[in-house]
Amino acid sequence: MNLLVMKFGGTSVGTAARMRASAALVAAEAKTRPVLMVVSAMSKVTDLLLDTMKHAEAGDEAGLRHNINELEKRHETACRHLLPEPQQEAVLQSVAGLIAEFERIVHGMRMLGDRPIRSVDEAVAIGERLSALIVAAFLQSEGIAAQAVNGADVIVTDAVFGNASPLMEATTAKASQLLSPLLEAGCIPVVTGFNGATTDGRCTTLGRGGSDFSASILSAALDAAELWIWTDVDGIMTADPRLVPEAKVLAQVTFGEAAELAYNGAKVLHPRTLAPLVEKGIPVWSKNSFAPDKPGTQIVRVLSEAKGARAVTSMRDVALLSLESASAALSGAHVMARALDALARTNIEVLAISGSSYRQSFCFLVRSDDLPRTIEALEAGLTLELAHGYAKPIEVDEQVGLLAVVGEGMRGTQGLAGRIFTAISRERVNIIAIAQGSSELTIAIVVRRDGLEKAVRAVHAECHMAQ
Ligand code: ADP
Ligand code: ASP
Ligand code: MG
Repeated sequence: MNLLVMKFGGTSVGTAARMRASAALVAAEAKTRPVLMVVSAMSKVTDLLLDTMKHAEAGDEAGLRHNINELEKRHETACRHLLPEPQQEAVLQSVAGLIAEFERIVHGMRMLGDRPIRSVDEAVAIGERLSALIVAAFLQSEGIAAQAVNGADVIVTDAVFGNASPLMEATTAKASQLLSPLLEAGCIPVVTGFNGATTDGRCTTLGRGGSDFSASILSAALDAAELWIWTDVDGIMTADPRLVPEAKVLAQVTFGEAAELAYNGAKVLHPRTLAPLVEKGIPVWSKNSFAPDKPGTQIVRVLSEAKGARAVTSMRDVALLSLESASAALSGAHVMARALDALARTNIEVLAISGSSYRQSFCFLVRSDDLPRTIEALEAGLTLELAHGYAKPIEVDEQVGLLAVVGEGMRGTQGLAGRIFTAISRERVNIIAIAQGSSELTIAIVVRRDGLEKAVRAVHAECHMAQ
């Protein structure tokens, strides 16, 4: 079908003007081939919705009202600026209907004094439903056939609320039932990113930043020819330009490099985005909707020439846990096995692991958000060892950050690791742990959090990434 999937992030639909610009990019491509559009919520709306639910749980009526007003204002203003008067009224009514749906859920939370995770998923997806509604209405007002589609009606997921995974077979079936007929009729489906539903219809979300993942799931389900991910920077860069102003755009990165960057904190892509595409070899581009003529970054299978370290990324909100055997009767490997087994039973992602056979100890890194659950899981998995003093008490260091250096060519570059460590030490930043990451494309380094940004800049300069 030569389908092009175009995904627009929050800033690319953040105001009426940005919606107009993004719709124009879609309309231009739709002249020559079928296009499916995936949209995020307007920028900061997801945070606003989540914050409103916290106010509801705490019984803070004033905070709740304030946020709902803000939500109404953002979307009503967009409608008034985008739509000609005759069409405004119907769309404003639909916007009010969705906001009323949100209010019903949060009032339930206020009564309960609780935020059940399933209700959170249902309520937070309203951000994307609002933006899809408005963008589709705008395209229609321009005489372009378009239809807002709720991702929950297409993407079928497991029941891991807040971080669900797609069930591809069921999703493919729904996509061909619901989306293919629209595409064949020359209509642009404007699908909500971020959300899905279980087989029995309960609302789920795919994790923060999950609209990229929605777009890749739909691309795979519909055998798209290409996926373009539109954001607010010129593509995938050698570092986050907010931390390293001289960071430059990479013309090409491999699927492996992009995945490593995403998993190690580069917000420009949701970590799970690439998995559905790799198998089918669907080409992906990361492009700037604010500067659409710039070439962006192409994500490819192989680079013509793999050169050293190509990009550095970092994560601040992480915690390091250390476990150590306290008795010769218990090997470090045993402690590690027990701990990993306990973690495997939960959905906690281990970001890096490093061990010392001499001390019979090992340490690993998790996201700060996962820390309470991690400790709980470890204590449950090692109850006897801890109670009888075979294992030392679990140590937790929350003042750390993760830095990751990524590049296909790192394997072959002699002395690179040494140069990276020296560059970090020169800044007087303490290196706490080192791991080779899950593949040889990455060196992961845990440093003191207050030195993280300095370390990122030092590594970027040392590896001449901007050249
Ligand atoms: P969107 O809302 O379009 O999905 P995000 O805010 O999720 O956009 O991601 C884009 C942001 O990712 C950029 O503004 C940039 O600050 C950040 N970022 C972090 N690391 C990188 C990197 N290596 N390359 C490009 N952008 C990065
Ligand atoms: N709106 C969601 C979020 O902010 C999903 C996304 O933007 O990708 O996390
Ligand atoms: Mg994003």
